Amino acid sequence: MKFTPEHEALRQTWKTLIDREINPHMDEWDRAGSFPAHELFRKLGAAGLLGVDKPVEFGGSGLDFSYAMVCSESLGLVNGGSVPMAVGVQISMATPALARYGSDELRGEYLAPSITGDYVACLGVSETGAGSDVASIKTTARRVGGDWVIDGGKMWTTNGAQADWMCLLANTGEGPVHRNKSLIVLPMKTKGVQIVKKLNKLGMRASDTVQTFFDNVKVPVRNTIGQPGMGFVYQMQQFQEERLWAGAGTIMGCDRIINATIDYTRERQVFGRPLLDNQVVHFRMAELRAEVEALRSLVYRACEDYLAGKDVTMLASMAKLKAGRLRREVSDACLQYWGGAGYLWDNPVARSYRDGRVGSIGGGADEVMLQIISKLMGTMPRLENR
Ligand SMILES: Cc1cc2nc3c(=O)[nH]c(=O)nc-3n(C[C@H](O)[C@H](O)[C@H](O)COP(=O)(O)OP(=O)(O)OC[C@H]3O[C@@H](n4cnc5c(N)ncnc54)[C@H](O)[C@@H]3O)c2cc1C
Repeated sequence: MKFTPEHEALRQTWKTLIDREINPHMDEWDRAGSFPAHELFRKLGAAGLLGVDKPVEFGGSGLDFSYAMVCSESLGLVNGGSVPMAVGVQISMATPALARYGSDELRGEYLAPSITGDYVACLGVSETGAGSDVASIKTTARRVGGDWVIDGGKMWTTNGAQADWMCLLANTGEGPVHRNKSLIVLPMKTKGVQIVKKLNKLGMRASDTVQTFFDNVKVPVRNTIGQPGMGFVYQMQQFQEERLWAGAGTIMGCDRIINATIDYTRERQVFGRPLLDNQVVHFRMAELRAEVEALRSLVYRACEDYLAGKDVTMLASMAKLKAGRLRREVSDACLQYWGGAGYLWDNPVARSYRDGRVGSIGGGADEVMLQIISKLMGTMPRLENR
């Protein structure tokens, strides 16, 4: 990857905002179980951070995906995963398909205010009965005149309690499971949309995650993103950006935890000398650093291929797999060297340990990544190969 002064300026803008607007509040937001998404997103929007790779006509900067990747990487400086995950939903999960395939009218109405931060977006793919197997979702949208009538529900919706609209995946036809779905912009204030509950999670405490029900919810057919029936395909494309985003977001988050642990163990005296002076400790830090650099190289290579228009399904899945596992390894290994201090709730390493666990589950579990890689390697038995 060749980074330009513009990339570096973007990193600096993120750092300034994270130091001023996010990190000082993270402990409070984590304890409160929520952060003020509209207030924060408007600040990020005003700094031009929510639409770096989105079309200029709708308020974006029209830059390429490498700039979005720098956004994700920079968010690793946040002391916790909740806000990066919420921003990731806004930039790389709920809006890429709308930006690429939405009508001008729809983009003006929903993409533009999501780039300014006036609107908070969420993504409704997973359901209580369908997470890894996206094709088996049950939510339906029936066409009645000029409307979709939506029934069903979604689970695990990040940003759901505060969102203005949902990028919803629903079954809109009878055909094969990969061709019978559509992505629909669903305004969350629509009659019949009910937030059933806010979920009480192990980590990512400051991010609100909800379950929703849809009962006879009517939205105009013009709210369909792109072609009806193409929702699954668009969502799979959207997942590529989400997975690259997840890979990039892990790099600096791991660096931050390793650096904090080096600083701590250098100061901490055990048996009359700095803990870091024990070979087992500084060797472990070196080993983890090498793993982070390997992930960085994989993410950058995948990003370069993506920019060159290549299919990065394999590399993005590998990056997501390695990122999820590495975050867990780094948090666990580093927490150990903090001793009891690492077991305290507000300790940054403890937060990384809690928040990072979802990296191997959300956005496609490790096993789903392995399934995709195996399929592309041609090693998966026929029966499983659907
Ligand atoms: C904090 C959080 C935020 C989330 N945010 C969103 C969001 O904003 N929008 C959204 O749509 N979804 C969201 N999700 C949902 C997330 O994407 C799903 O949890 C994930 O895809 C796994 O689905 P599941 O939980 O239904 O697990 P299941 O599909 O029931 O799978 C359970 C486990 O089985 C294993 N497994 C799966 N497939 C295989 C296989 N083929 N072989 C062997 N083992 C396998 C995996 O280890 C997996 O963890 C979020 C989840 C969490 C926890």
